[in-house]
Amino acid sequence: MGFSALKGQPLATALLRKTIATGRVGGGYLFVGPEGVGKSKAARLFAMALNCESTGDAPCGVCPACRKILAGEHPDVFSLGFQTGKTRILIEQIRELQEGLAYAPYEGKRRVVIIDPVDTLSPEAANAFLLTLEAPPSHTVLILVTSSLYALLPTIRSRCQIVRFSILSKEALLAVASEEGLAVDPGSPYLDRCQGSMTRLMAFLDAATSEKDSEMWRFLTGLLTNPGEVDLIETPKWAKQKTSVMAFLGKALWLFRDLLVAEETGAFPYVIDGERTRRVREKIRHVPPERVQALILSVFGLLDDLKWNAAPDLVYEYFRCEVESLYG
Ligand SMILES: [Zn+2]
Repeated sequence: MGFSALKGQPLATALLRKTIATGRVGGGYLFVGPEGVGKSKAARLFAMALNCESTGDAPCGVCPACRKILAGEHPDVFSLGFQTGKTRILIEQIRELQEGLAYAPYEGKRRVVIIDPVDTLSPEAANAFLLTLEAPPSHTVLILVTSSLYALLPTIRSRCQIVRFSILSKEALLAVASEEGLAVDPGSPYLDRCQGSMTRLMAFLDAATSEKDSEMWRFLTGLLTNPGEVDLIETPKWAKQKTSVMAFLGKALWLFRDLLVAEETGAFPYVIDGERTRRVREKIRHVPPERVQALILSVFGLLDDLKWNAAPDLVYEYFRCEVESLYG
């Protein structure tokens, strides 16, 4: 594990590593940098390194202390953020923290408090927290995380050692994405547009997925209800990608199943998207259910072809012709 889990932050990593190696640990650290560049992850890694049972300048990730912190179950590591439904960290939370800090650490070498994001402390909470920051209990390290340094009380800023985090390079973004199991094309324009923020990159990818999703539904219902429509004749761009055509055929199966359920029960309450099914059914009333069943089998065959590396756009074309034949 070690600090290498933190991608694209050489300066912050070097500073944290040196702190652990020399054992000269301060009472308060302020992790500052843009949204989505690894500050929260760094805070957890630092908490692990401070309590790790192995020797060295980085967390091992496998000792009981590291594992408990990873699971969020270490009794000496307190994580404070805003509660569900709230937009601020409240004074009650700070009071509760201060009560907890009155006792000695249970099992850790050091007690660690992570406040993330610290700029959401309510004014009363911030004032109450200053008492802790001015005189932290012994063996306690406070890690404060923020993306807006100047939203903090100057007294909070001045009492902490500042650890700066920078925006992520393309390579670092790709490394983080692959670690999280996200497939990102190295040529994706979003890697530039996200301005080095993983949070923004994910938002772009989510939006692109849902845009493609509605585009696929438009084509699918279009092919079924109005196959002669001009802008449906050209093969869509996404049909070049195997995963997209698979997703498209998956939607087709979903819709055909709906049509059969509606046909069988004469009602729409059980289908997944009643409105869409109703619209399609209006148009293909003349098609006997056996033809829809045959189409389902044919889609299964096409999905197999894709698995065996058939060209996705040809598979799409084949599907389009099959649907068109319903009208022939
Ligand atoms: Zn460890």
